[in-house]
Formats: sequence, C-alpha cells, structure tokens
Amino acid sequence: MSDSKRHLLGLRGVQAEDIKILLETAEALMDVSSRDVKRLPALRGKTVINLFLENSTRTRISFEIAAKRLSADSINISAGGSSLSKGETLADTARNLHAMSPDAIVVRHPSAGAAKLLADIVDCPIVNAGDGWNEHPTQALLDILTIAQHKPSIEGLVVTIVGDILHSRVARSNIYGLLTLGAKLRLAGPPTLLPPEFASLGAEIHYDIPSAVAGADVIMMLRIQRERQGKNYFPSLDEYAHYYCLTEDVLADAKSDVIILHPGPMNRGIEVSSGVADGPYSVMMNQVSNGVAMRMAVLYQLIVPGADGIRGSEIPEPSLPSAAGGQVL
Ligand code: ASP
Repeated sequence: MSDSKRHLLGLRGVQAEDIKILLETAEALMDVSSRDVKRLPALRGKTVINLFLENSTRTRISFEIAAKRLSADSINISAGGSSLSKGETLADTARNLHAMSPDAIVVRHPSAGAAKLLADIVDCPIVNAGDGWNEHPTQALLDILTIAQHKPSIEGLVVTIVGDILHSRVARSNIYGLLTLGAKLRLAGPPTLLPPEFASLGAEIHYDIPSAVAGADVIMMLRIQRERQGKNYFPSLDEYAHYYCLTEDVLADAKSDVIILHPGPMNRGIEVSSGVADGPYSVMMNQVSNGVAMRMAVLYQLIVPGADGIRGSEIPEPSLPSAAGGQVL
C-alpha cells in the first residue's frame, strides 16, 4: 500500500472509487455481525489502539467491536486515563504509542487537526474518529452506506442536512463524501449556524426547514453541539426546536420514501420529534449497525497488506473557513 493510502483523516479529497470500495467491503463484512461466531481472522495478531480523548458512546464501542470482529487486539485509552491528564502533549503521547508498534491508531480529539498531527508522527495508519469541528469520516461513510442500502443510487439524490452545520464534523464529512458521489445537497439551519461559505462547495443553503425538506430523498438531522458553542447562537432551545425540529408535519412535504438519519446522540423534541425518530422513515438504528461493518471495512483496508487502501484521505487541514474557527491544533 502506498503512503497516500495509509490513513483515513477525512473524506475531503477521497475519490468516489475509494468510497465505493469501502461500501463494497462493508457490505461483504456485514453478515459477520449476525453469525453465531462473530469473528473473522483477518486482523489476527494486529493491535488497534483507540485513543478517545473526547466523549463517545457509539463511535468508540463500534470501533472496538469492529476490531474484535476482525480478531485484532484492541486497546482503549481515554482522556482521564491517559498521561495527557498529567500534562503530556498529544505529540509525545503519539510517539510513545508508536514505540509500542500498533498496527493502527483510531483517534478522537476535541481539536481540528489532531488526526493529521498523529499521522505526521507515527508510522501506522491513523483513523480519524472525529477531530473537533473538522471531520468524522467513518460517520459519513456509515451514513452513505445506510443511504446506499435504501436508494438505488446516491447520484442525483436530494439530501438535506439540518441543524448546527457550523460546529458539525459529521456535516463536513458528509458534504465532501456525498458531493463526490453526485448527491444534490441542501444545508439548512439558522443563519448563525450556517455560514454562507458552505454554498461555495456546491450546496444549496436554506434558512427554513420546510423549503429544505420539500421533495427531499434523505434528511439528516444534526445535534446542537452546545459543547462547541462559546456564545448564544439562538435565543433558546425552545425557539430552535420551534423553527428547526423535524416533526411529522414538516416531513409531509418530503418524498414519500424519504429516509431520516441522525448520527446520535439525539435530543428528542429539539432536533427530531419522537414520532419521527421512532417512525417508519427513521433509519437511525441501521446507521448504528452499519457503523460496525464500515469500521471493519476501514480497518481492513488500512491494515491488511495488499488491500485497496483509501486514496486521497490524507488531505489533512481543517478545510472550510469556519472549521478553523474552532480550536485547531
Ligand atoms: N457523534 C457525532 C460526533 O461525534 C455527532 C454528535 O456528537 O452530535 O460528532
């Protein structure tokens, strides 16, 4: 595998062909999770370190299960349990992890650029499991897999992403991946959370939810990322919910076979009503199941010698102007 195929730092710059390889690999690995013995020997003898320096439920557990289902040894490190809490820098932590010869490091960090910093220091593949506002490529890949399972083709689909676009790494990775695959993207949210720069990527900007949802094939709702908001971007959560919560009424104008995604964690009644979250169009639990298969695919493609790898995924920097507004390494 060439160097340019060795990391998954983001979806910016990843070619459509490589996304398709990951989708196919995930599909091929999907049934492992429903077998009696949920294990393949593909990564036997390999070590995957999960360095999670920011809270996570789904992503951390999903990566751990994915590594175990491929027979890798997986080791979890959290912020509180690491020497970072004693003042060690991320770069020094990375050098020490590198000295123990892992076969891949999965990293989540509150700062944009953290995954790239590790990739510059260590020899093994780095998988970005979310760096600040920047990217969360495996979330977008599992979202794309979920969409692909429900629709004949991504090309030409109207995909609406609603919510706190400004602070969302999930939105950024989905924007890159979905545009690469030819989807028509609509972004919706209050103007304070949806800077006009996003239009330059080729997405339509909407400041009201009904126009963004009308005729949509896919609707992706995002959480209000209060942990990243240093100021008040809207008067109150009640007011936000009044204008931007996806309810059955709003949904009536979407396509009749629309699907609803949410990366979790979800705030019921703020981003999505319970009726929609638990209703027939929601594919949120499919997303969670697909997360394991997609993370297996990513680990497989990056670690197994001779696998395809992921071209272009090294393009590192926090990319949209507003991503750099957060804390950047
Ligand atoms: N779980 C996703 C993330 O880590 C989405 C969210 O937290 O709202 O970015």
